[in-house]
Amino acid sequence: MEINENPLTLTDGFGSMVFGDAEIRKYLGEEIYQKLRRTQKNGRGLAPDIADAVADGMKKWAISKGATHYTHWFQPMTGVTAEKHDSFICYDKEGRVIDGFSGRELIKGESDASSFPSGGLRATFEARGYTAWDPTSYAFVKGGTLYIPTAFYSYSGHVLDKKTPLLRSMERLNKAALRILNLFGNGDVLHVHPTVGPEQEYFLVPEELFELRNDLKYTGRTLFGAKPPKGQELDDHYYGAIDPRVSAFMREVNEELWKLGVPAKTEHNEVAPAQFELAPIFATANIAADQNQLTMEVLRTVARRHGFVCLLHEKPFDGLNGSGKHNNWSLSTDKGTNLLEPGETPYENAQFLLFVTALIASVDRYPELIRVSVATAGNDCRLGGSEAPPTIISVFLGDELTEILEAVKNDEPYGGREKELLRVGVHVLPKFPRDTTDRNRTSPIAFTGNKFEFRIPGSSSSISDINTVINAIMAETLNGYADVLEGAEDFEKSLHELIRSEIAGHERIIFNGNGYGDEWRAEAKRRGLPELDSTPAACDTYLSKKNVALMTSLGILTHEEMQARYEIMLETYVKRTCIEALTMTDTARREILPAVCAYRRSLSGDTMFENDLIRRLKVLTDNAYFKLRELDGAVAEARGEQNARAASLVCLNRIIPTMKLLRGYCDAAEGLTAADFWPFPTYGELLFALN
Ligand code: ADP
Ligand code: MG
Repeated sequence: MEINENPLTLTDGFGSMVFGDAEIRKYLGEEIYQKLRRTQKNGRGLAPDIADAVADGMKKWAISKGATHYTHWFQPMTGVTAEKHDSFICYDKEGRVIDGFSGRELIKGESDASSFPSGGLRATFEARGYTAWDPTSYAFVKGGTLYIPTAFYSYSGHVLDKKTPLLRSMERLNKAALRILNLFGNGDVLHVHPTVGPEQEYFLVPEELFELRNDLKYTGRTLFGAKPPKGQELDDHYYGAIDPRVSAFMREVNEELWKLGVPAKTEHNEVAPAQFELAPIFATANIAADQNQLTMEVLRTVARRHGFVCLLHEKPFDGLNGSGKHNNWSLSTDKGTNLLEPGETPYENAQFLLFVTALIASVDRYPELIRVSVATAGNDCRLGGSEAPPTIISVFLGDELTEILEAVKNDEPYGGREKELLRVGVHVLPKFPRDTTDRNRTSPIAFTGNKFEFRIPGSSSSISDINTVINAIMAETLNGYADVLEGAEDFEKSLHELIRSEIAGHERIIFNGNGYGDEWRAEAKRRGLPELDSTPAACDTYLSKKNVALMTSLGILTHEEMQARYEIMLETYVKRTCIEALTMTDTARREILPAVCAYRRSLSGDTMFENDLIRRLKVLTDNAYFKLRELDGAVAEARGEQNARAASLVCLNRIIPTMKLLRGYCDAAEGLTAADFWPFPTYGELLFALN
């Protein structure tokens, strides 16, 4: 073990591969740096001569970091990032080879968009797509290439990525929040931005075992596997001592991330065996989204170097906890004030209550949109089980905050005060210590003292989608509040009234109880809260009038772009489900059933044990075969469907239930087949290779 003798090296390495403010200043000079910052602020394009200077400085810096290539890095609708590398090599006028990188190359890239999902937005005859530099996120060097964060759009100007809507939603939210802050006399605040800290869960399995399982290779999760005698029931993995092999892996992950400027902070063993978590320090939403993409990539690549494969799927193993990505969300001013932190004065407190109320009301107005933003085939395997939040959207506030809001709503005295009514903007709220916001793990959205934690996103998904929605619905609600309050004669009175009526109107979304129980499902139904328990069900709500009105009126997405997103969500769901079904039929037909039959033939039948086995294995084999044929038919039906929604319903109603049955027979056969005959590593081997 190397001893780190110079404690400074930890922070020295941080961001060493990022073209951050200090590097920009150094390579561009103060004047260009200031011009660049100004154009970033007012959102206008860079003048061509400045763009050339910026590009040249960026190139010089990148080459000093060992870069030979550059790439426009973007986030198409696949949910993962895309990149195409070009070298800096070019010819000058005299035909000599030089390194070059122009402003034009920095600002705009052209790429063939025809192989990225477009949901019908890009007609095949116009396959061109463009990438445009996003100067609000830092460029960085990785693996000898300069990465330039960009937005991606089609020739006709349609948005084809997940980043552009996120940036737009942040801008709308900024404007709306500033209107509110002005009313509270905070005119000195120039900018408000959402802050996000995504906690990333993942599994590690030994690489040599992974290679032997086609289900893991093709789908990222196990499609077969009898339960081992031990699961997670002893709770002996959660926060347990980290296996030295995993420690070495985590150390390298951290070092890689720190170099890239990603502030990886917390790591620990998670609940399921072989499951872990990594949480960064929060950042501005779009930067957090970029950094989370990098985090997933670094986890995957570093795992291979340590003989592991990192599984980011939402439900790699049946019967064990799945993986999510807790999206911690708050709002911060350019002065560093967290707007979801209770303050010291009555005014600060009133402002805090208004923002909390806005979040509650926004979620209650648009629960479907939040649900759709996390709807994928993978997350369907996880949400709604007794280990992850249910598919009913609700907000957990904890007892303290709930009581305060109740008091405001009912014009009642709060807590131990001397029979005083709690008047918003007049009275100081009692401070509630952070640890009283108890840890209700069953809620999809929870207030945790100074932020809201959205626990429904899946571990593999881009956080851009959910944050676009949170920002958009908050922007709309805050604009509505500003409309009311800006015209108010008596600000305090109107404010109190507004909070009161909003809480009264939206309290059905507040739920502090156990979200796993059936009682909650019944109660939620009584309250009229939607339960959208599958991706097709969630997608059905996406293009509702109110959702389209929200996104179009804020100028975040057009109706056409939403239509395209709807198609892409369903198409992706169908494709993923079909890949799983095909992997299953292939594995059952060519590996499992032959193994079971071979074992059965090897039995002589002259003991009761063997006789019984022969009989039972025959029944299981026949049943499995029957389901296999059924699954073949269902996949053919789904793939033959032209309409994405109809195909998704075949997946939901035929393919997935048949997959479950086929798996049941195969897993039962696994439990009866001699270990030597089983064709691939078992759950026990995959999960308990580590301490
Ligand atoms: P826990 O959820 O275990 O209490 P923390 O509260 O420390 O842990 O933080 C969990 C995640 O929330 C971290 O990624 C952290 O950076 C993030 N977080 C903390 N404060 C904020 C904030 N104001 N806005 C967004 N994310 C935050
Ligand atoms: Mg947390």
